[in-house]
Amino acid sequence: MAQPRPSNNSASTVPQGVICGVCGTESRQQALRPAPPEQAPDLDLRPGQPVRGTMARWLQQCPHCGYSAPDITQAHPAAAQAVGAANFRALLNDTSHPPLARRFMGWALVLEETGALHTAAEATLPAAWVADDLGKPDLARAWRLEAVALWRSGPPLDAEQRVRVVDALRRAEAWDDAAYTAQSLLREDPPEAVSQVLMLELRLIEAQDTARHSMASALPPPARRPHVSHQKSIKRGEGLRGWLKRLFGR
Ligand SMILES: [Zn+2]
Repeated sequence: MAQPRPSNNSASTVPQGVICGVCGTESRQQALRPAPPEQAPDLDLRPGQPVRGTMARWLQQCPHCGYSAPDITQAHPAAAQAVGAANFRALLNDTSHPPLARRFMGWALVLEETGALHTAAEATLPAAWVADDLGKPDLARAWRLEAVALWRSGPPLDAEQRVRVVDALRRAEAWDDAAYTAQSLLREDPPEAVSQVLMLELRLIEAQDTARHSMASALPPPARRPHVSHQKSIKRGEGLRGWLKRLFGR
């Protein structure tokens, strides 16, 4: 009988004792050291596997005050006030929403309170991914629109962020807004990779397709060939952001 293979490329799961930066309570939290993504991300930059499957470990959460963050030992001076506020407590206690989604939304709330609106948008989108995985389209749609609102209430967006806005709008069935946003970016003559993604988005919008699609399906043929994409994709130690920066020519 085959033995289960020990995972050598997923996150380390050794729990560590950490002190919450908001309330000072010590708790054991799993450290996350994800392997670089091997599959291409979705059009909204949701990472491919194996990172995709580690979402439950992207954020730590204090079991006492509910503060959640990539590293709960670190807290913005305004975080304690945000965590104590009525809207945060209501979110934390809203059992009609999936617990993992509430963890992302809680982090997004703290970021919003500290004025980091784009990062708050990036923290809200994973809540929609949780809803996708659980088959809750209404929640996914609401959280995508919330992420878009946060992106748009911050400073001017770069091309990568605008592509993510287009995809969030498409997947939330905001067809007109999605098409308009894609076309206005195309008119600015963005880098080739961005244009390719936007052309795919426009075809999907036209077909009223709300499904997830991989970045690999938007890119020109060479990037689809495994041996070439292997060379051109993630360099060891580079990580998702570095790869995407090269992909988007930034
Ligand atoms: Zn705490």
